Amino acid sequence: MAILVFVETQDGKYKKAGLEAVSYAAQMNAGEVTALCIGEHEGLDAVAKIGASSLVVLPDMGHFDAQKVSSAISQVASNLNVDTVVISNSYAGKDIAPQIAGQLKASLATNVVSLPNAQGEVTRGVYSGKAFAQVKLNGAKKVLAITPNSFDILDNTQTAAMKEVDVTISEGGVVLKELKKVTGKIPLTEAEVVISGGRGLKGPENWNLVEDLADELNAATACSKPVSDMEWRPHSEHVGQTGITIKPNLYIAIGISGAIQHLAGVSSSKTIVVINKDPEAPFFKAADYGIVGDAFDVIPKLTEALRNN
Ligand SMILES: Cc1cc2nc3c(=O)[nH]c(=O)nc-3n(C[C@H](O)[C@H](O)[C@H](O)COP(=O)(O)OP(=O)(O)OC[C@H]3O[C@@H](n4cnc5c(N)ncnc54)[C@H](O)[C@@H]3O)c2cc1C
Repeated sequence: MAILVFVETQDGKYKKAGLEAVSYAAQMNAGEVTALCIGEHEGLDAVAKIGASSLVVLPDMGHFDAQKVSSAISQVASNLNVDTVVISNSYAGKDIAPQIAGQLKASLATNVVSLPNAQGEVTRGVYSGKAFAQVKLNGAKKVLAITPNSFDILDNTQTAAMKEVDVTISEGGVVLKELKKVTGKIPLTEAEVVISGGRGLKGPENWNLVEDLADELNAATACSKPVSDMEWRPHSEHVGQTGITIKPNLYIAIGISGAIQHLAGVSSSKTIVVINKDPEAPFFKAADYGIVGDAFDVIPKLTEALRNN
């Protein structure tokens, strides 16, 4: 039994979601865990201490191309004869997981939020996070895409070794014409704390309220769909059914009504705080803590209180 884990990197650093995937694989107790990354990386120790016993490094492939990456990962999986491939259910993971499963003729579970139980079943989020399904993956080979922020990162004392695997990097089918980088300080999907604003903030000129609070809490910023549709904020911040799904430890929603389509992307957050001047706002039903008040009054006071602490 062996497991291969794809660890995404950004600017040469392992992404948190990738480290969670390695820790998840280690806790499966299903055999040797090999981590795989592409291009510049942080080295062996960082993956060893969370449970990997080896690391495969593939050459840099330029901009992310799901066809190229999935083909390379599948080749490594076949070469090492692994039973299970674990990846994060990130943007990249959502792209490559089905392709890897197809190439390996493996069964696939995405949005996974539990370790396999004694029967080999895992729990996965379905219907935009409104329900959970218990699924059993048939067949000898499996691909598991695990939901970011669902598993802790282990801290073991273990050593690992580099492994060489020959792969043929395919041509890929997509030519990058232009890349517009998201400028947010903290990537939304990786953030532990997210401060989100809705139409109740009246206009883009008031977003300093959200940003100042986010700075105090080292948080990422997000918004509701109408806010990005009106171009008050970039589309990369739009959370919900048609936007990004997030699962931070703390989600603070300011001036957001709590429509079902918004909740679909944020309801798995560990703690939800809602700030809304309407006590009947539906979001309060999904909140762990609520403040009924005017955002223009509450937020500066909250930010000030945090600043003075
Ligand atoms: C197919 C489909 C997909 C959709 N996908 C998404 C999605 O992915 N994400 C998403 O967000 N929406 C989505 N929507 C839209 C969704 O239905 C709601 O219309 C939207 O979420 C409402 O955004 P909002 O809460 O910012 O605005 P509003 O509904 O206008 O709510 C504004 C809130 O601010 C409060 N408020 C006003 N002034 C203040 C103040 N001074 N202080 C404090 N509170 C104040 C109000 O009481 C109100 O509750 C989708 C809709 C459809 C039909």
